[in-house]
Amino acid sequence: MLQAGHITIHFLNAGFWWDDGGAQFGIVPRELWEKEKPANARHRIKMSLTCPLILTGHEVILVDTGIGNRLSERERQIYDPEPATRLTDGLREVGLAPGDVTHVVFSHLHFDHVGGVLDKSPSGDLRPIFTKARFYIQKAEWDLALTPTDERLAAAYRHAPECLRVLDNVALLEGDSAIAPAVRTAVSGGHADWHQCVIVEAGGTGLIHLADIVPTTSHIRLAWNAAYDTNPLGTITAKKRFFAEARAKHLWVSFSHDDHVAAALLGPEGGKAPQLAETIRIG
Ligand SMILES: [Zn+2]
Repeated sequence: MLQAGHITIHFLNAGFWWDDGGAQFGIVPRELWEKEKPANARHRIKMSLTCPLILTGHEVILVDTGIGNRLSERERQIYDPEPATRLTDGLREVGLAPGDVTHVVFSHLHFDHVGGVLDKSPSGDLRPIFTKARFYIQKAEWDLALTPTDERLAAAYRHAPECLRVLDNVALLEGDSAIAPAVRTAVSGGHADWHQCVIVEAGGTGLIHLADIVPTTSHIRLAWNAAYDTNPLGTITAKKRFFAEARAKHLWVSFSHDDHVAAALLGPEGGKAPQLAETIRIG
């Protein structure tokens, strides 16, 4: 948990899952990344689904929703996600139910961030989970997810029609946007062209949720980026910008998929790679 002035931030864990280590680390040699993120026999590394929950006193703001329970049997074999109930369990632990969530902000619309908006019954019926929430997403990301412009994007957003169909209260953002007092989004690009980070500033501190710009603590090195990124050089630019803002304003940074660390305070600039001065562990 993190306190920033009047704002409380919990780091909900929507469960762990497994993804291909090579895809997560792009051009970084396996010999280097597997010292920090050991792969299993299927070459996959353990990933979390970290979803910040921002409580302002008036708003209950959830950032991303995890994978959910909508994967096909084949996809479940690949990603081996934990039960989707982990997210609602996390809400219950802080005294809330899905119907209490007022805002859901999506960093972007890949399946591991948007799939948790719905519950899929064994017969295939789709039921929205956050029934009272308004959903915030960049308009250009929404358009791209529903009308992908090439084969790679079509694969990356193949789940989007099913997930987005259940949402009926959507705010399509055009650029950096205020979500609530002291809570805003900032478009980062990089991982996806309209990927956005969520920034909280209150009481002289706060948080930048970096989402998939820095999915794990290993990706804090500027040159360690996922092969999924549509613009890896844009990811590097975004890291520099958000790291500088975090240091200047004493903001924590948080990661979407690290299997141990939900959030960290960066150490001072300098040295070979950014250091973590303090961490908030998962669980
Ligand atoms: Zn992700």
